[in-house]
Amino acid sequence: MIRPTPAIEAIPATTPFVGPEQLMREAGLRRLVRLGANESPFGPSPKAIAAMSAELERLGWYGDPESLDLRDALAQKHGCNQQQIVVGSGIDDVMGLAVRAFVAPGGVVLTTRGTYPTLNYHAIGYGARLEFADYRPDGTPDLDALLEIARRLRPALVYLANPDNPSGRFIGRDDMNRFCSALPHDSLLLLDEAYADFVATRDLLPLRIEERVIRMRTFSKAYGMAGARIGYGVTAESNVRTFQKIRLHYGINRNAQVGALASLADDAFRDRVVAATARARSDYYALASELGCGFIESCTNFVCLDMETAARATQVVNDLLRRGVWVRKPGAPPLDRYVRVSAGTEPMRRAFAGALRQVVAEVPA
Ligand SMILES: *Cc1c(COP(=O)(O)O)cnc(C)c1O
Repeated sequence: MIRPTPAIEAIPATTPFVGPEQLMREAGLRRLVRLGANESPFGPSPKAIAAMSAELERLGWYGDPESLDLRDALAQKHGCNQQQIVVGSGIDDVMGLAVRAFVAPGGVVLTTRGTYPTLNYHAIGYGARLEFADYRPDGTPDLDALLEIARRLRPALVYLANPDNPSGRFIGRDDMNRFCSALPHDSLLLLDEAYADFVATRDLLPLRIEERVIRMRTFSKAYGMAGARIGYGVTAESNVRTFQKIRLHYGINRNAQVGALASLADDAFRDRVVAATARARSDYYALASELGCGFIESCTNFVCLDMETAARATQVVNDLLRRGVWVRKPGAPPLDRYVRVSAGTEPMRRAFAGALRQVVAEVPA
């Protein structure tokens, strides 16, 4: 009999992300308003689409295994050098590299219970031990709790998403500075900045190249290229050299490299997306007020609407899906009473608002 390793065999079967395609198949839906995965409804920059379309005929070739043109452009953007950048198939890939490179089996990975979960799957898959801090009651990651656990357990990795998903909360630079200095110096901070593009640069932690911090960014959100799968980490050269030993060298799609590079040259497009996203958030706040439900002010491309109990939030998600609108809800308290809806175009927002008005009227509070 062929068996996986005991460590892998011990992992419970799981499908962490049930995709909208699967939900449509199960529900027999032909169309779905996709507001469940924080994808950009605005897609990639037209310049990126043009560059990728022109590049398609060279799809017979592998992409540059060093992604050098892209890394040069990213180095310029961040004021560092290309040896301080590792490109991956999304942040999700970079997180896997970090766990594999820096956490020995049994080593501790510290995160927030209920935050973006991909790191947890990598940690489990590589035999690490997960430890959790809880969110603060308002849904902000609890830096003090993370610090307290980190001092006690000396984790190999500490994960923080800022802005956070699923809450949408953002921790400003002074608090982040204090947090970084107070972390044990032998813990590596994985700082997931998937939504950094939606925050003013002056509010972000300034970039300091340090061995003990990896800043992770993506083209999946503001740049609208989630399907291309490309993201990166900025960190010390020594860490990039470590990743160089284990990463999948042809793992970055050739077209994704070209599209990402062209995106970086179109700040005007990204600024329009950020502005349109802010309008979408305001629309959702107004809808929440109209329906008399609370919400969390968000610094991202999604908003959490308060359904008061986890059971009601689950029912609202299910009922919206029956009406052809896909949203998700956070899985852990204190956020599990919320429904999380991604920024959509105006027609998508109208579809969501129409369906939500009906559903909240039907589902008792
Ligand atoms: C969407 C998201 C990601 C995924 O990024 P990819 O680059 O598409 O892998 C990572 N972290 C957070 C917090 C996200 O919301």
